[in-house]
Formats: sequence, C-alpha cells, structure tokens
Amino acid sequence: MSYGRSHKRARTDNISELNAKYMALDQQNNFQVMYIWIDATQENLRGKTKTFDFEPKVASDLPIWNFDGTSTGQSLGEGSDVYIRPVALYRDPFRPGPNKIALCETLTHDEKPHPTNTRQQCLDVMEKAKDQEPWFGMEQEFTLLGADKHPYNWPVNGFPAPQGPYYCGVGADRVFGRHILEAHYRACMYAGIKISGSNVESMPSQFEYQVGPCEGIEMGDSLWVSRYILHRICEDYGVVCSLDPKPVLGEWSGAGCHLNFSTNVMRTPSEDGAGWRAIEEAVHKLSKVHMHHIAYYDPHGGRDNERRLIGANQTETVDAFSSGVADREASVRIPRQVFADKCGYFEDRRPASNCDPYMVTSAMVKTCCFEGDD
Ligand code: ADP
Ligand code: MN
Ligand code: MN
Ligand code: MN
Ligand code: MN
Repeated sequence: MSYGRSHKRARTDNISELNAKYMALDQQNNFQVMYIWIDATQENLRGKTKTFDFEPKVASDLPIWNFDGTSTGQSLGEGSDVYIRPVALYRDPFRPGPNKIALCETLTHDEKPHPTNTRQQCLDVMEKAKDQEPWFGMEQEFTLLGADKHPYNWPVNGFPAPQGPYYCGVGADRVFGRHILEAHYRACMYAGIKISGSNVESMPSQFEYQVGPCEGIEMGDSLWVSRYILHRICEDYGVVCSLDPKPVLGEWSGAGCHLNFSTNVMRTPSEDGAGWRAIEEAVHKLSKVHMHHIAYYDPHGGRDNERRLIGANQTETVDAFSSGVADREASVRIPRQVFADKCGYFEDRRPASNCDPYMVTSAMVKTCCFEGDD
C-alpha cells in the first residue's frame, strides 16, 4: 500500500515546518493566555489556554479561572473546581507576539489559598522583610533524559567516561544536549525572566542556568516559570527534563538549586564592615536550624535530598551544617570576592533541584531577617 506509506510520511516528517505555517496565521485581535499553576506534587506544573479580546499587560488584567482539581490531586471534596488567579505575567515564547503566560496561584472555592499554594505564605514573609530588600539568585540544575528515561545520549549499554571533562566543557563527546540549554536561555529572555547565566554541568547530560538577582516574591515566580519553559522546550525536542536531585546513583553528581542571598545591609560596602557582620550573623543563625531548613529544601521533607547530600560530589552530608569561604563542600559558601570586599552575598548549597523556591526563599528570610522565632 504505497499510498498509506507516503501519506503517513507527509504528515509526520514536517511537523515543525507545518507548525510554523499555522503559527504565522493572523490572530484577528484575539490574544492567547496560557494559565499555568503548580499541581499537588508541589513539583510539577500544569497549564491550559484561554482567549481574550484584549492584550493583558499585567496579571491583574486577567480574571480568576478554574480547573478540575480531581484530575490534579487538588480537589478538596467540595466540588471539583479549584480557582486559579494570575499573579505574574510573561511573554509566551511558544506563541510569539502578544500572547502571554500567566503564572497562577491556586485558591479554594472561597478564594482562600489552596493547601498546596505555598506562594501566599512566601508573599507574607517577603512583605514583612520588604525594608531589608531581600535579593535572591537561584542556580537551577537539571538532567536531560531520553524518552526511555535513561540520561539523554548516554551509551545504551554502560556509562560515559567518568566525570572530569564535562563541567563547562565543549565538544560532542562532552556535551549531550546543549541545544536545549541554548533554546531555553533565549526563551527565558523573551519571556522577561531575569536569567543571568548558564553552564554545562559535571555529569554528562546535566546543565544549569541561573535566575537573579530577584527581589522578594519575584524569585519564586521567575523560577517556576523558567521551569515551565524548560519542560516545554524539552517536550518540543522529545526529551524529558528531570529535576530529581540524584538521577543516577554512584559516582555521578546530583542536581541542586543553590540559593544565593543578600539583604541591603549585606550588599552595601561600609567602613565598619557592617555587611560582613550581617553575613556572618545570618550564617550563624542558619547553623542553628539546619534540619529545619533541610525539611523545606525538597518537596518530600528532606527525603529527596538525602540521596544527594552525601559528603561527596561537592556536597556536605544531609545531617551536618558547615560553612566556609570559597568552600564548595560546605552547606553554605561565602564567595572569595565577598570575603575580600567585606560585603556581598552568600550561597546556600543545600536546596535540591526539585525544591519549591517559595519554600526555600521564605525559609531563608524567616531565619535570617526576623528576630526571635520564625
Ligand atoms: P556559582 O559560582 O555558585 O556556580 P553562579 O554564577 O552559578 O555561582 O550563580 C550565582 C548567582 O548569584 C546568580 O544567580 C546571581 O544572580 C546571584 N547573585 C549575584 N549577586 C547576588 C546578590 N547580591 N544577592 C543575591 N544573589 C546574587
Ligand atoms: Mn472539558
Ligand atoms: Mn553555578
Ligand atoms: Mn552547578
Ligand atoms: Mn553554586
């Protein structure tokens, strides 16, 4: 049946070409908004689209919408609807032009934060700490997997050569999937996310990008949307992005999401070294509540991070706290330059790659910016 064969080929071989043709069609004054939200796993994102007859400019231009909570594990048994309220708006790199991505928070039927909505408490904390101007930068590491869930482009039988040549490497034998890192970088810039850098990581098929500095709630919002964009790009290429903090056991690096943090006092150069003292004081406070933070640094109360924080591959063990200047084996590292300048920021290396940035940033502010109990 030669007809069937060629027919099938014509339909499947040119998906991107055909798609470009349809995506170039005039929208006739309609505007698409992809509403996205965090599901019950506190790890995965969902999204669906709505058409508007105006171009939204800010999140508050958009109405509350809803979705079927029984399909995402978010229904509370009082009807299946969960409300989604747009809280931050971005240009949509997948539908270029006036179309948007709206990051939403989830609300119950009486418009209270849904139990899986961690943004509200984060926003409260950031509001209280506003005069200290908390800045964050997060380093999102991720691992690409093929459709078979095996690390992308690893040998089918066996493993690549041991770690060493891959970190910040170049060459087809060292970098397995740079096209995804590059596409994601530009897509984030287009969207309006403060993406500040990227690098190839120590384990083959592992990469990192950094977002920041962002003040307050913008950190969590930006990181969640950057992850949505990452998953969408991987989907386009038929690759899966894993945020598991230890995707391959053994002598292979895990994946983290280092949190860089500063307040206005820490950042400001001064004759009397007030910035340095503020950094030392924050690190001291963190040392007192180590396990408390570990519980917030992955979506399973620390269990995911246990596989990663093992005192090897540039990590401290999960049950110990340590800190040091330029020390990448410590829980908290103070960059060499910050020590020299006596002001700047510090890096908490503990958060897992699949952490909830709302939980991580609010834990940091509660411990370091507030007096007394958190
Ligand atoms: P590393 O040396 O740990 O790999 P990166 O360059 O990957 O560092 O990431 C550094 C991060 O620190 C970036 O996200 C950047 O935005 C952030 N950063 C820089 N300055 C500050 C600051 N003053 N406060 C908070 N974060 C900062
Ligand atoms: Mn339906
Ligand atoms: Mn980094
Ligand atoms: Mn890294
Ligand atoms: Mn780092």
